[in-house]
Order: sequence, then C-alpha cells, then structure tokens
Amino acid sequence: MEYFSSLAFVLKKEPSGEQDRVYTFYTKNYGKLNLLAVGSQKLTARLSGHLERPALVWIKFILGHRPKLVSALEENNFLPIKKNQSALLSSLKILSFLDEFTLEYQVDEKIWNLLFESFSFLEKNISHGKTIADFVYFYFQSQLIKISGWEPYLKDCLICHQKANYFNFGQKGLLCQKHRKKDDLFLTESGLKSLQLLFNSSLKNFQSLNSLKEILKNKEVLEKFLSDFSFFLKSDIIG
Ligand SMILES: [Zn+2]
Repeated sequence: MEYFSSLAFVLKKEPSGEQDRVYTFYTKNYGKLNLLAVGSQKLTARLSGHLERPALVWIKFILGHRPKLVSALEENNFLPIKKNQSALLSSLKILSFLDEFTLEYQVDEKIWNLLFESFSFLEKNISHGKTIADFVYFYFQSQLIKISGWEPYLKDCLICHQKANYFNFGQKGLLCQKHRKKDDLFLTESGLKSLQLLFNSSLKNFQSLNSLKEILKNKEVLEKFLSDFSFFLKSDIIG
C-alpha cells in the first residue's frame, strides 16, 4: 500500500457512520483533501488530540477509492490562538471560508502560503487582541478572492474612469454616480481606501498597530463588502 504525507491545516471534521469521522484538510502538497478516520474509537481518540482546530499537522494517508487518514502529528497547535476567544473565532472563520472557496485536489502554493502567513501573523501579533483577529480575517478573505481570480476593480468607474463609489457585483467593479445601477453597494471614500489596501498590500505593510487600526476604522464597510461579494461569488460562479 502506498502512503502519502503532507503538512496540513485541519479545516473541519464530520461524523461518518457510528464510529468514523471524515476530516477535511488543506494540505501543502495535495490541496484540499477529505480523509476518513476509520474508527476503532481508540484510533480516532488518539488522532483527535492533534486535530483540534486550528492545527497545523503532519498527516500520513492513503489515497484511492476511499482516501484514509493513517496518522497525524502536531506541528503547531496554535495554543495562543486557542486561548484567545477573538483570535480563535477568526481562525475558525478563515478555515471555513477556505473550505467554501476551494475544491479537492487543487494544489495551490499561493493559497497555502496565504494560509500559513495569516496564521503566523495572527499568532505573532496575538497581543493586539480583537484588532489583529478582525484584521487577519478581512485580509485572508480579500487575498483568497484575489488569488482565486476574482479581484474586484476598485480604482474608478469601469465605464468612464471617473471617480466612483458604487460597487456592482455582476461586473465586479466600481461605477460612478452617472453609471451606477439600482442595487450597487455604496462605498465611502475611506472604506474604498481600506479595501484597496487589503487587496493590494502584503502583510509586511501591516506591521504597526496603527496601520491595523486605520483599516479597521472601516470595519462595517469591509464586513458588508466582503460578505456580500463572497456570497455573490459563491452563488454565481462556484454554483
Ligand atoms: Zn462612470
């Protein structure tokens, strides 16, 4: 039997039958994988200690008709994140968001790096509490949307290239007062600036607490935009 192994983040677990579980992983080498943990309760109990989210683990598994998890070894259990309620909540939202936006067996180094860097950044700056927790979730959503090929056009009006503050989901870009449509989402000047920063900057640009606070001044705008836009992408493009 051929064994495979990879570094992986645990995305979720679901019961399967009486004793089994299916774990969903985002792996470095194989993309997203659903692996059955076959259940003598002893085995699942032994594994589950290492697989409590958020967790970075080394997994060994078998592929084929029913891919199975063989073993899991903790690489980082993110204890500081688990101990901080805001950070824990954000990290679980990141993992669900990733799960919703990816298909199985699609290896993507950029997504892996984004995931890895987002968790490292959150862990490293955990002393910033809710500020860092909120920021990292916004950053992750924006960057994953961008990597997946749906970067929104946030510069000026798509049609006349004048100043614009209305976002059209269908066209994935801004429209001005003159070209806007009825249901477009209004974005304030400052909200737009925060969005541009989230989509176009790397984490290196957010080293100071002030830079995070500056972005989060527009928390409501970011929340509304990112949740509406991802809802649109999921329902319209992914199906
Ligand atoms: Zn226009």
